[in-house]
Amino acid sequence: MFTGKTKNVGVIGYPIEHSLSPVLQNAAIEKAELDYAYIAMPVKPEDLRDAVRGMRALGFRGINVTIPHKTEIMQYLDEIDEDAKIIGAVNTVVNTDGYLKGYNTDVIGSIDALYHHDVEIKGMHVVLFGAGGAARAIIWGLLKAGAAQVTLGVRNVPKVQPVAEYFSNFLKEGQSLKLFNWNDEGFEEFLKTADILINTTPLGMAPKVDAAPPVKWEAVKPGAFAYDIIYTPAKTRFLKDAEAHGCAILNGEEMLAGQGAAAFKLWTDVEPELSVMTEALRKALE
Ligand code: NAP
Repeated sequence: MFTGKTKNVGVIGYPIEHSLSPVLQNAAIEKAELDYAYIAMPVKPEDLRDAVRGMRALGFRGINVTIPHKTEIMQYLDEIDEDAKIIGAVNTVVNTDGYLKGYNTDVIGSIDALYHHDVEIKGMHVVLFGAGGAARAIIWGLLKAGAAQVTLGVRNVPKVQPVAEYFSNFLKEGQSLKLFNWNDEGFEEFLKTADILINTTPLGMAPKVDAAPPVKWEAVKPGAFAYDIIYTPAKTRFLKDAEAHGCAILNGEEMLAGQGAAAFKLWTDVEPELSVMTEALRKALE
């Protein structure tokens, strides 16, 4: 039951009808018995500035931000958290008495999902397929978590070169970052020592479920861990092939729920039940 005291939160993007965030967040709100309401709001790119002013004027406690606003919104905020600044994208805004601070909870969402499955990152070699928006948060999360080596396998090296050079600025002693065309022979050599493989491309996402990045599985250690950030279908071809090769696997549901959970905590100061969010998500996807 909404009252005059109900606090408003929501998500902005364009288009937004297919967002699963309302399902995730309202399940967590209900479980925590908080007086909050979470809605999806379509905001056209040309209306973003007004939408942010509106958020202030309407006293929204916070918003999630999705495509195409994640980078553009940064100029309208009062402060940007360190992770979001480094990644160059904000997916969560917290409004404290009109002061808007932007965060990027995709870092926590993507990395904590690995930790929840007892996957060690420190000292490991991680190979990413694709290096777009979501990958930026994952690359930064992996470097922060102490991965020894991050190798990017992509279809278009010149396009990703600036990304690789940018993140190379953050390498600590003992860390390295390499970039390959995923069809290069040199890339196969790097696959041999991978401890974790992550698909960050949309290859394999419904409805084109037969697609997958070109992984030479025979080169991969069977003990490696395979992570696909896609969540529809629950088991992509990348994950099926990985499983057949003997790898433990994880899909993108927990990353999605995890980034939502981290945003929820920022707005409410309450730790949500992640399992409730994941379950609500699974049901909605069915
Ligand atoms: P993005 O910014 O468009 O990046 C996609 C990456 O995949 C780019 O490197 C792109 O290469 C590559 N790619 C796209 N189509 C390809 C193709 N046909 N063949 C080879 N490479 C291709 O997208 P994103 O926002 O990072 O999202 C990527 C995937 O992650 C989507 O499936 C999305 O649903 C999923 N995702 C999941 C979560 C989660 O919470 N689980 C969060 C965010 C995203 P080019 O630059 O050469 O096109």
